[in-house]
Formats: sequence, structure tokens, C-alpha cells
Amino acid sequence: GMHDAGWGRVVLKLSGEAFSGSEDLGIDPGTVEYVAEAVASAVAEGMEVAVIIGGGNMFRGAALHKGGMERGRADYMGMLGTVINCLALQDFLERLGVETRVQTSIHMSQVAEAYIPRRAVRHLEKGRVVIFGAGLGAPFFSTDTTAAQRALEIGARAVLKGTQVDGVYDSDPRKNPDAVRFDRLNYNDVLTRGLKVMDATAVSLCMDNGMPIVVFDLMQEGNIVRAIRGEKIGTMVCP
Ligand code: UDP
Repeated sequence: GMHDAGWGRVVLKLSGEAFSGSEDLGIDPGTVEYVAEAVASAVAEGMEVAVIIGGGNMFRGAALHKGGMERGRADYMGMLGTVINCLALQDFLERLGVETRVQTSIHMSQVAEAYIPRRAVRHLEKGRVVIFGAGLGAPFFSTDTTAAQRALEIGARAVLKGTQVDGVYDSDPRKNPDAVRFDRLNYNDVLTRGLKVMDATAVSLCMDNGMPIVVFDLMQEGNIVRAIRGEKIGTMVCP
């Protein structure tokens, strides 16, 4: 069952915001170390983990565009920001003795491999952590959509989305004390009720291909490993 073998291969999606810890911008080493330690122990248990990190702690294309920048260029800045996060996580993982590869959708051969799906799978089979950078390499997409697409292409069993809340609620639990948390949802509920899981492009890609999404509280000690193991945690969005 799922609890014995875990998900097997997963894509772990972390927002860039999480990497800045309590700050708005930049990288908080303690937070990155915390994530790296959790990923390292999941790998030690035999799980195959690919990681996608957002870039919200660096630049968001939409925000730069609002300030007057051309949208495509703004989004490329956003994508490049995610690569900095990838290198930070790579460093902390390798300090823990975990082999890693960063693969980016925008070519930058000095710092990362190109995204080559079959090579990514091979790395995972060898117990390496693959960190995907630069999103899909195309403006107007998000790292959430990237997580969904990569999960599908490399044959992951689920997208695990680590956030600041412990699941999906019917309203914002920070504003409404009576907000109700869902254990399980279907994709349609998420889309029609506008629930905050991932953006609509990402959710519909998962819906069309039956890819489960697990939303969980990243900073709760032990949660990353539990999510990767396939333990019941947070909210699961599935068919
Ligand atoms: N981005 C993009 N295409 C992609 C992935 C990301 O254009 O395939 C850009 C977009 O500008 C986005 C930024 O990179 O705002 C950072 O990614 P995201 O907002 O998904 O980061 P997160 O909110 O997860 O920290």
C-alpha cells in the first residue's frame, strides 16, 4: 500500500517565499537547511524526489510588469530568480552528502544541466535529487504549472505543494476563525470555488491527467518527509 512504499517518485513544490524565511526577499539559510535535511532523509528512505522552487522571494513577473516592465522580460527575470534558489538548495543538500543535479529550462551550462527528461529520471533512479530551475522556460506560466508538467513528464506519483498553511480551506483561515479545512477535494471544486491550491493552469493540467496534489504546511517539523512518504497530511486534491 501507499504507506509502505510511499509515493515512490514525487515532485516537491516549494514557493520562493518559503525560502526567505521571515524576510520578504532573499534566502534564509536556516530555512533552506531545514528543507534540505527533510529531503535528505526522504531520499535515505529510498524515495525519489524532484524539487521545484518558485521565485517569489526574488521577482514575480506580474509585479514587475505592473511597475511598467515588458511582461516577457519580467517573467524571464522571475525564471532566473528561481535558479538562484535552486543553487542554494543544491548547496545545502550536497553538504549533507546528497547527490544532486540542477536542470534548467533556460540553458546556463556553467551552473546547471539542461532539462532532459530521461536524464532526470535516470538521476532519480540513482538516488540523486533533481532540482528543476527556470520554470517551463516560457513567460505567462508559473512554477506551480511547471511542477505539474514535470511530475507528468517524469512519471511522478504526486505533486506535493508545501505552503504556509496546513491545507486548503473554504476561506482564509488567517482572516476567518470559522474557516473549514478540506481533507480531500476534487479538481472541479478547486476550480469552480476558486480555492487556493495552485493556479488554474496547474490545476487543470493535473485534472486532465489525474495527477494528485497534496497541499501541506511546509514548516511544521516532519511534514516534508510525511508528505513524501504518502502519509495522510494536509489536503489531497485528486480525481
Ligand atoms: N515564471 C515564468 N514561467 C514559468 C515559471 C515562472 O514566467 O514557467 C516567472 C513568473 O514571472 C513568476 C516567477 O517566474 O512570477 C516566479 O515564479 P512563481 O511566481 O511561480 O514563484 P512562487 O510564487 O512559487 O514563489
